[in-house]
Amino acid sequence: MLTDYHLHLRPDEEETTAERYFTAENVERYLEAAAAAGIEELGVSEHVYRFRQALDLWRHPLWVENAHDDIDAYCDFVRGTPLRLGVECDYVPGAEERTAALLEARDFDYVVGSVHFVGDRAVDHEGFDVWDGSGGDPDEIWRRYFEALAECARSGLFDILAHPDLVKVWGRARPLPERELRAFYEPAVEAIVESGIAVEISTAGLRKPVGELYPAPAFAAMCAEAGAPFALSSDAHLPEQVGFGYERALELLERLGVGEICVFEGRQRRLVPVGGRVAQG
Ligand SMILES: [Zn+2]
Ligand SMILES: [Zn+2]
Repeated sequence: MLTDYHLHLRPDEEETTAERYFTAENVERYLEAAAAAGIEELGVSEHVYRFRQALDLWRHPLWVENAHDDIDAYCDFVRGTPLRLGVECDYVPGAEERTAALLEARDFDYVVGSVHFVGDRAVDHEGFDVWDGSGGDPDEIWRRYFEALAECARSGLFDILAHPDLVKVWGRARPLPERELRAFYEPAVEAIVESGIAVEISTAGLRKPVGELYPAPAFAAMCAEAGAPFALSSDAHLPEQVGFGYERALELLERLGVGEICVFEGRQRRLVPVGGRVAQG
């Protein structure tokens, strides 16, 4: 079985309206791409901040700019397609109860939990870049990012922990911490194991300046050794990105001795053997 659960029906630009992208024709393009890649389980997880209801959780300027759509209309639309229904929801410290209320009021198959921000600065968005104005101390940025990731896991709000070392997204364009990376991973792995959340193997990093999978092999190995379950996704924002780079993800799982991945329905998780035909790309 191969899955692609963390995916978006549209690019992140603001003009990518629901009217244009939440259509049967667009879903058909994703289903065709999944079939060609041998992916049997396909789900969609739109960014929570594109929905008006997300402003109950946080009023960050990026969210205020993007919160145009109605989350219930999205859920109704996806339920009319063969896709599993998910959402990519940021962990917003202090908004745990409001986040739980938003998620529990809808019948998601799974929720992908993300950390994109350290405080109100983004690790992966140049408009609100954490690397400007913070003194840019990599040890401090990495420490705060992984602290937020651990809190995200421990919150118990989410089923899948998205792109677990997103802080590395810019690759060589930003400095690495002086401390060993293992020191940042360790507390996150502890939180992951305690919470039971599934760790996402995301091929999105292969398309980004860093050019590697999330999580890095050493981080993934620590998760595997600690017995964490894994989920497999591309974080596609276009049909042609469905299953992107899966041969690399499968190689990593095999190297780690991980033979099963998670599938989700109604926020219940099952482990199934991983594998199948993978498109080259
Ligand atoms: Zn994300
Ligand atoms: Zn995403």
